[in-house]
Amino acid sequence: MLISLVVPCFHEADTVRRFHDRVTREIGPLAPTTAFEFVYVDDGSRDDTLTHIRELAATDARVRYVSFSRNFGKEAAMLAGLRHATGDAVVIMDADLQHPPELIGRMISLHAQGHDQVVARRNRTGDRFTRALTARAYYRLVNRLVDVEFVDGVGDFRLLSRRAVDAVLRLTEYNRFSKGLFAWIGFPTATFSYENEVRAQGRSKYTFGKLLNYGLDGVLSFNDKPLRAALYLGLALLTVAGLYTAWIVGDALVNGVDTPGYVTLLVAVTAFSGVQMVMLGVIGEYVGRIYYETKRRPHFLVSETDGEPHTRPYPGP
Ligand code: UDP
Ligand code: MG
Repeated sequence: MLISLVVPCFHEADTVRRFHDRVTREIGPLAPTTAFEFVYVDDGSRDDTLTHIRELAATDARVRYVSFSRNFGKEAAMLAGLRHATGDAVVIMDADLQHPPELIGRMISLHAQGHDQVVARRNRTGDRFTRALTARAYYRLVNRLVDVEFVDGVGDFRLLSRRAVDAVLRLTEYNRFSKGLFAWIGFPTATFSYENEVRAQGRSKYTFGKLLNYGLDGVLSFNDKPLRAALYLGLALLTVAGLYTAWIVGDALVNGVDTPGYVTLLVAVTAFSGVQMVMLGVIGEYVGRIYYETKRRPHFLVSETDGEPHTRPYPGP
C-alpha cells in the first residue's frame, strides 16, 4: 500500500526539514508493509522553503512537490496536494509538527479496518482561553445553521482513502472550505483525539481577522440558511411595525394627535436602515460568491513541480 503525505507549506523554511526528518523516523517501523510518498506544496513562500524542498527531493526519492506562482492559501495548497498525490490513501498534515507524526500508524491501521476517513481531533490544551471560548461558541452556532456537522478541534489532519480523495476532487467549487467538504462527502469515518501541541517554531499564519473570515466562510459556503434567516427577520420586523402603526393610528383616532414623536421616528429609521444594511450584506456575500464561481478561474497556478518548471496548465478535475 502507498500512502501519500500531503504537506502544505507557507514560509516554513525553519520547519520543513525538521518535519521531514521527524516523519521519516516515525514511519520507519511501518516500512515493511507500507510505502510512502511526500507531497510538499509550497504555497508561494518568499523565504527559502522551496530551496529546502528541492534539496529534500534531490536526496530522497520519495519526495515530490508542487510550487505555486504566489500564495493562494492553504485550501488551494491542499487541493493541489490531493491532485498530485498518487497513493492508495492520503494523509494531510501541517508542516509545523502540530500534527503529531506518531499518529500516522494509528491512522493507517484504522483505515485498514475499513474507514475511508480517519480524523484526528485535537483538544485545545495550550490554546489561548479566548480562542478556545470563541471556537466553542462558533461551533455551537454553526451547527445550528449548517446541514453538515462541524466538530470543534477537527482540522485538516486526517487520512482519506483513494475514493474519498476522488470524491473531494469532484467538488470543484472556487470557495473551498475543506472542513465542510470532508464532512459533506461522508463515507465511514473514524475519529480519535490527541493532545494539542504548541507550534514548534515560527508563528501561526492565522490572525484574528483571517479566522473571522474563515468562520464566516464556514457558515456561508454550505447553505442558504442566512438568506432564510434574513427573510424571517424581515417578516418579523414588518409584523411589529404593522402592529405599532395600527396602535398609533388607533390612538390618534381616539385621542387626537398631540405627540411630536421624533425620537420614535429617529429610532425606527436608524434601526430599520441598519437591518436593511445587514440583509444587503448577507445577499452581497452570496452574490460575491456567485461572481467568483462564474469566473471559473483555476484555484492556483503552478510554477514548478517535481523539479520541472511548469509551462502547461496544471491538469484540472
Ligand atoms: N499554510 C499554507 N498557506 C497559507 C497559510 C498556511 O500552506 O496561506 C500552511 C502552513 O505552512 C502550515 C499549515 O498551512 O503547514 C497550517 O498553518 P498554521 O500553522 O500557520 O496555522 P494554525 O496551525 O495556526 O492553524
Ligand atoms: Mg500550525
